[in-house]
Amino acid sequence: PTTHERLSRFLKSGIYRFENSTAIFIDPVRVLNRFYTRFRVSPTAYYSRFFDDDDHNGNSKEETPEAPPDSRKRKRKKEKKPRPLNETELIAQRRHQEVRPLLLKAHETLLGATELLAALKGLRSDGHFTDEECRGSALKREANELNFVELGRVWQSPLYEISLNFDQDQNFTQHGGDQISVPVFNNFVVNNGDNDVEAELLNRNYIIPRKSCFYMSDLKEIHNLVPVECESGFNLILIDPPWENSSAHQKLKYRTLPNRYFLSLPIEQLTHTSGALVALWVTNREKLRRFVENELFPSWGVKYAATFYWLKVKADGQLISQLDLFHHRPYECLVLGYSSQKDVDVVELSGHVPIPDNQVFISVPGDYSRKPPIGDLLLEYVPGSKDCHRLELFARELGAGWNCWGNEPLHFQDTKYILKR
Ligand code: SAM
Repeated sequence: PTTHERLSRFLKSGIYRFENSTAIFIDPVRVLNRFYTRFRVSPTAYYSRFFDDDDHNGNSKEETPEAPPDSRKRKRKKEKKPRPLNETELIAQRRHQEVRPLLLKAHETLLGATELLAALKGLRSDGHFTDEECRGSALKREANELNFVELGRVWQSPLYEISLNFDQDQNFTQHGGDQISVPVFNNFVVNNGDNDVEAELLNRNYIIPRKSCFYMSDLKEIHNLVPVECESGFNLILIDPPWENSSAHQKLKYRTLPNRYFLSLPIEQLTHTSGALVALWVTNREKLRRFVENELFPSWGVKYAATFYWLKVKADGQLISQLDLFHHRPYECLVLGYSSQKDVDVVELSGHVPIPDNQVFISVPGDYSRKPPIGDLLLEYVPGSKDCHRLELFARELGAGWNCWGNEPLHFQDTKYILKR
């Protein structure tokens, strides 16, 4: 395809495939928009950071550890003699040096794609919304969102119901027959229809994509996801755990859990008889990478297959932090492996496409810790993927065709993030 064709495909799909490179650039807003028929993701709400006017809305500085330190700190750092790296840091450094050329090459490819770079600047205002709509969504953003984690803990939580309005021609004030109310916590809430559906909970509205399902609960209840018959297990399991880390900002956003809690996730029981591709987001902490390789995957019975990288750039195409900055790397890893039920060799069974190692995805990050929606890009590597059952664990948003579990899977479904078309 010509450059022009690549760009026009990108503007439709949100996915840009470079010439002569396996790297992929993603616009999460456009990718997510494919989940909706009557709604659209608000680009201004999605891209809350890393666009030029960040400083005006006061978001960027506090949220990005990569913001330049003030001059005093810089001075202090200069005075400090670099101490030699300890053993773990040396291993981390070696790992980084191995992927460094690959990431640099992907970044150079982006910087060489001038048409795409020009389009990046416009991603935050995709022309579908009037200024008034943007102002409206900004106002809604200021209003209070529900805190599902707190709501799920109170004694009344079994009583909270969400109303789904399946009748698209009526709004909530005209109570029609096509509205159902079901418990919102510890329950499977399903939209099996071909259209997205508006839902209401405690005076706030949420959009539930077509063919999606969520189960909102604490980790204690995760066994409820295990299917009664193994035929109905999952073929693709995407996991983004609340790993502990030292970021004070993260502590404000959501609680984290010690690693040992993740050892008992029932991955094998959730796996389909024809096996599953397991994709796990991991930060760059060396101890964590080792925990995943040496303890977590073995305890889940997952066989390591490949590592993908998410390279984070700003709207001008520059990396969000220096590539070699030790504690704030501008990339994260997605570690992939295969899970199978006892005694089954998935790779033999499936006849699927082998996963390439070192695939790089590039995107401008959204909210703190929000990952780009790469789930459906993994479909081609899924064993027995004809009718792929997809599961996301620790989800904060929903997707068409996905089952989503976590203690706040409705978080980004609030209508402050999603607008009417
Ligand atoms: N993938 C998500 C995204 O792109 O927005 C981010 C997931 S975030 C890293 C981890 C999630 O796990 C948070 O939503 C957090 O509230 C949730 N979580 C933390 N402790 C939990 C628990 N005990 N049970 C269920 N979910 C929990």
